[in-house]
Amino acid sequence: EASTPDTYAPVEIGLHGVTKRFSDQVAVDGIDLEVHEGEFFSVLGPSGCGKTTVLRMIAGFVDPDEGRIELDGNDMVGVPPYRRDVNTVFQSYALFPHMSVWDNVAYGLRRKSVRGAELTKRVGEHLELVRLSEFAKRRPAQLSGGQQQRVAIARALAAGPQLLLLDEPLGALDAKLRKELQIELMRIQREVGTTFLYVTHDQEEALVLSHRIAVMNAGKVEQVGYPEDVYERPATRFVAGFIGTSNILDATVSGVDGAWVELDAPGVERLRARLNQTARHGQRVAATVRPEKVHLYDDATEPPAGWCVLRGVVKDVVYTGVSTQFVVDTPAGGELVAFVQNARRIDDAGAPGQPVRMAWDPEFTVLLEKSADD
Ligand code: ATP
Repeated sequence: EASTPDTYAPVEIGLHGVTKRFSDQVAVDGIDLEVHEGEFFSVLGPSGCGKTTVLRMIAGFVDPDEGRIELDGNDMVGVPPYRRDVNTVFQSYALFPHMSVWDNVAYGLRRKSVRGAELTKRVGEHLELVRLSEFAKRRPAQLSGGQQQRVAIARALAAGPQLLLLDEPLGALDAKLRKELQIELMRIQREVGTTFLYVTHDQEEALVLSHRIAVMNAGKVEQVGYPEDVYERPATRFVAGFIGTSNILDATVSGVDGAWVELDAPGVERLRARLNQTARHGQRVAATVRPEKVHLYDDATEPPAGWCVLRGVVKDVVYTGVSTQFVVDTPAGGELVAFVQNARRIDDAGAPGQPVRMAWDPEFTVLLEKSADD
């Protein structure tokens, strides 16, 4: 993404040590976050991790127990929702059923006393933006779910908020429509340039849509980064396991060799990772590698010199179209997975019961930190 509004853009939302408790439960646990102007920023995490609470605190529906929430550097705690230049799109659309599409989109503008030609122009522009111009006269009930959500987005953007909060807005749509609307949302955000803060539990959705992602677990932020960061270089065991499929190996540091950490585990011929933290000899660590980085070898072929290599026995072979997934039983990490593309015949890479070596370039081994709930 060439036009990533990166960290050079000014900070628009700042969360500093924000905590929220509900009776004795900590929903949000001392988090820090900075979202920059013009970003499509996602908060990603499983159900109950606290992401909606983060969004509701930014909207002003809920006040934090501790910490500061800043918008453009101004402390927002105690400022009521309607005094914040923020709008929210919910999963449930929440359109006004008795109003036409046009009047729904005009609602926020009328409340801001926009009238006449200016009103017509801005409603028209926003219907155009979500490609619903020809549906202006319909009632929400006469639209599909995807169209209703587009009306909700147009309505939320029409009054020109500086920040749009979106809480699982595609959650009620079927998979195909979801994919279509993801592309639409991305286009809309790039077109209007408004900062989007997007809450989702869908990993792929966050990877597709976002400039940056905060991954939450048990009330804490485990990692903030570009989609490539959280996918290719997960920081913690949780992130590695939550986003995509991961092979996780428990190992012991057997040596540090310049920029590399050498690791030991049962059944491992060689396991190494880039040094990303202070690794001490004998330290217990977890390492991960993505299945698509793993190649399979039989005993007749040698993996490239210096690669990570470990032994196992093929347990299952699953053909998925884009790739063939090999589940391998290993003494090092239990069941590990390799996604092999263009396996000419399944037998080429191993059939169930066959011993194999799993091998990969050590650049793709990632050492993991502990997760919030480890
Ligand atoms: P989901 O995807 O299921 O909406 P979430 O990640 O958005 O989950 P939150 O809704 O932020 O999670 O909730 C975090 C925790 O705080 C949950 O355990 C939830 O039960 C609790 N919680 C949230 N709101 C309240 C409330 N108003 N009163 C009591 N507990 C609450």
